[in-house]
Amino acid sequence: MSQEIMKLDMFVHGEWRAGSTGDVVEVMNPAKDEVLATVPDGGAEDLDAAMASAAEGLKVWRATHPRTRAQVIAKMAATLQERAQEYAELYSLNSGGSIGTGLWTMYDVAGRRFEYYAGLADKVRGDTFVTPGEFLSYTLREPVGITGHIIPWNGPLWIGSRTIAPALAAGNSVVVKPSSEAPVTLLKFAEMAVECGLPPGVLNVVTGRGSGMGDLFTRHEALDGIYFTGSTWTGRKILANTATTNVRTVMELGGKSPNIVFADADMEAALDGAIMAIFANSGQICVAGSRLLVQASIHDEFVERLAAKAAEITIGGPEANALMGPLITSAQREKVLEYIASGKEEADLVTGGGVPDDPALQKGYFVAPTIFDGVPNTARIAREEIFGPVLSVTSFEDFDEAITLANDTEYGLASAVWTGDVATAHNAAQALEAGQVYINHYYTAAFETSRSPYKASGHGMSEGPDAIYEYLNQKAVSVKLGEGEGW
Ligand code: NAD
Repeated sequence: MSQEIMKLDMFVHGEWRAGSTGDVVEVMNPAKDEVLATVPDGGAEDLDAAMASAAEGLKVWRATHPRTRAQVIAKMAATLQERAQEYAELYSLNSGGSIGTGLWTMYDVAGRRFEYYAGLADKVRGDTFVTPGEFLSYTLREPVGITGHIIPWNGPLWIGSRTIAPALAAGNSVVVKPSSEAPVTLLKFAEMAVECGLPPGVLNVVTGRGSGMGDLFTRHEALDGIYFTGSTWTGRKILANTATTNVRTVMELGGKSPNIVFADADMEAALDGAIMAIFANSGQICVAGSRLLVQASIHDEFVERLAAKAAEITIGGPEANALMGPLITSAQREKVLEYIASGKEEADLVTGGGVPDDPALQKGYFVAPTIFDGVPNTARIAREEIFGPVLSVTSFEDFDEAITLANDTEYGLASAVWTGDVATAHNAAQALEAGQVYINHYYTAAFETSRSPYKASGHGMSEGPDAIYEYLNQKAVSVKLGEGEGW
């Protein structure tokens, strides 16, 4: 039975705001190819209203005692965790991931992040330096101001929380533009934040297409910082826009992450890890392990067993709680199928290679788990981010060749190493050009540790204690105390 279409507006200054253009964007349920919701396709007038609201919100929030900020953000965290089921269902309907993934991301990822940065809100400090009798010098850390957050569709709150939580903790106001493909959870969350005591104007959400609202957004003169998570292609367009506004930027972009399996690895664990690395969420994860590098001496057995495991993968809509759900749009499915066609010309297809046969999966945007072997590192499927369930396998002889292949990419988001040798693991961790290295597992990364992407995967710190400095300006104050040389 079809679901009733949700009609959502933008959320500005603590209230729902209808769009000024009168146009709407249809938001799809990707598992069913049905319209789930509509949101305004906003324009310049809406954006100006959101920025004016954020300016008001900033005055209030930056003057709020950090301890009170911490309490409000902690309440937002707790409320999201209490309502995790409701948010997980919305996420699943809109982004196509399983309810299990939704619950984990609401409770353990987004909820925990707000909790973590609530804890940091009243721990922002500066430094002092005294030259006795001459100068007192100290630093002041102050909010950047109005921060703009552009979020991709694949984890609106799970990824949105990574920039929104530290921005709020540092005393900034926030304007978010979610993906037009998945704006639902962020809009609901903004309303919930006000119910938790966040003053109106501190968290605003505008909606619209990337090419329209997104482009206007990143040119807007009121913004003091842009925190973008999305593709490298869009990131470059945004950086070009900021050449004239000169705002601070943090860019978390795309990836083509290598997953290296040495012959001395625990093979069963590496096989399961390789499957999760590329097929969880149908490969629609920025850090997905899309390039599998396997040492030549175990290559044949590894690929054979990998294909057998791929054949057992569950595929289905959110209610099926399967490992693989649909791709986000029919256009994305077409793009992935084009990559598969190019893979068939440049490498050997091991399994998959099209739409699953199951009649129940013909309506949503599903693609079968696909593995290519013998992939030269020059092939399109080895170089470009596909953002779908397509794995490239390449074999290597020794450590040096593994690292050379792994680093032969424009991206540098994540990487993984499977080995029984501790020295191999740490030598690889140092040699890999990526902001995240997983050793003998894939995906689990403490968000209490900070990191920045390498190369075309972006710049700026995310997660953990250091990320908060991306949301703070630092001012040095020097006071003359008496006569002396100074410096
Ligand atoms: P996308 O780049 O197409 O869109 C991201 C956001 O940018 C959306 O809100 C979109 O509306 C907006 N946008 C599009 N064009 C714009 C423009 N011209 N100006 C301003 N904004 C614009 O990415 P997507 O398809 O939503 O998400 C998938 C991509 O995001 C993948 O490349 C993935 O690797 C990346 N991603 C990266 C991370 C990370 O942490 N590095 C996390 C998740 C996703």
